[in-house]
Amino acid sequence: MSDINVDVLIIGAGPSGCVAASYLFKQGLKVKVLEKSKFPRFVIGESLLPRCMDHFEEVGLLACLEAQNFELKPGARFLRDDIVCNFDFSKKHTAGWDWTWQVPRADFDNTLAQELIKWGVDIRFQHEVLDVAFDADGNSVTTVKDQAGETYKVNAKFVVDSSGYGRVLPRLLNLDKPSSLPEHSSIFTHVKEPNRPEGEEGTLITFDVLDRDTWFWVIPFSNGVTSLGFVSKNEYIDSFEGSTTARMKQMIETSSYYKDRFRGLDFEFDPICIRNYSKAVSKLYGKGFVLTGNSAEFLDPVFSSGVTFATESALCSAKLIAKQLKGQQVDWDKEYVDYIMKGVNVFRTYVEEWYTGNLQTLFFHRPENPEIKRQICAVLAGYVWDETNPFVKKHNRIVANLAHLINMEKEEANG
Ligand code: FAD
Repeated sequence: MSDINVDVLIIGAGPSGCVAASYLFKQGLKVKVLEKSKFPRFVIGESLLPRCMDHFEEVGLLACLEAQNFELKPGARFLRDDIVCNFDFSKKHTAGWDWTWQVPRADFDNTLAQELIKWGVDIRFQHEVLDVAFDADGNSVTTVKDQAGETYKVNAKFVVDSSGYGRVLPRLLNLDKPSSLPEHSSIFTHVKEPNRPEGEEGTLITFDVLDRDTWFWVIPFSNGVTSLGFVSKNEYIDSFEGSTTARMKQMIETSSYYKDRFRGLDFEFDPICIRNYSKAVSKLYGKGFVLTGNSAEFLDPVFSSGVTFATESALCSAKLIAKQLKGQQVDWDKEYVDYIMKGVNVFRTYVEEWYTGNLQTLFFHRPENPEIKRQICAVLAGYVWDETNPFVKKHNRIVANLAHLINMEKEEANG
């Protein structure tokens, strides 16, 4: 046993760890956050959804974020050939936030962590979790390596694994399982844009659909930097030759809409390639621990749901941990797993139907149906628990059925 005793140990100071820590700290619990890297640090995941604003607001983290003047994201644009599909979050079926931000995550995550430190939350940077051992009651002893390379131990009543791609507990407890989604990879970097187009064109987040499996994201930040990234099947990414820089430059040439804007700009860092990014686990909690955010499940970047699920799962689990540590009964299956998976499964359908092409058929069908668009827009804003929305309640058939109808109409029209 060590001398360091906490109520809740949180692994990782990304959005998931920070939201969990802020809620638990405000409940008067003794919290410790261990973060492997030194902040600010780069991580991908720069386009947020309106739903996560609810979480930051609830835990008192909105004001520090507002002070950063991040680029406002009032919607999202999807392009395919010469068809434009613009979603405006103020025109959505479900009540709730109608804007959010597009953010350089190094600054965004650091803002959250520094705010928690200001409140008095104990966050240790460059302290890496090496091992966690649980006893039969769920009490744990965590082995940590500090920046000097020394190891020490922490006793905790509960561990929140918010370690993102570190996947600490899934690795240590063998919880990883294959994702149900087809394998895709991504390659991305940042550019400085001294001559950004004026007005909306310069600030709008856009997904340029190059073919059914391949799309290009353009995410302008308020600091003059723009994030660029390609997503596709592994074969597509592998079909380009050379360094990641050489490959990314060739890929930019495949976007007829954007190639002139980004040709010749220097990359801020060598493009990073993440292969087979979808992740899943066999369970989301156990005695004395819970998995939140990317450490639990990651689907696909196409609808920017990662950070929102990171904060949704963090806040939901933090409430349950506080309840449990106060001696109340918690039904983790019902109150955590069922709730979180309900939302994850709605997005899973949308991701699957994106890559079958059915959702793309709906997005790019003309004329648009305003009511359908409002309902899909609420899903894209992250309001995926609102069962008054048929595109939530009947998610597993409505997209495929509508696409089928559109395709039949097209076939009839073509004789
Ligand atoms: P993270 O933000 O990854 O934070 C985890 C922290 O844990 C890190 O700081 C890490 O250093 C720390 N850690 C890891 N191991 C240890 C350890 N052993 N000890 C201590 N600390 C540790 N999401 C969006 O919402 N919008 C997007 O546009 C988007 N685009 C994406 C594009 C791609 C190509 C991919 C692959 C993902 C994208 N995502 C996006 C998903 C997004 O990256 C994640 O969902 C999000 O960062 C999850 O936040 P988190 O707090 O769970 O984890």
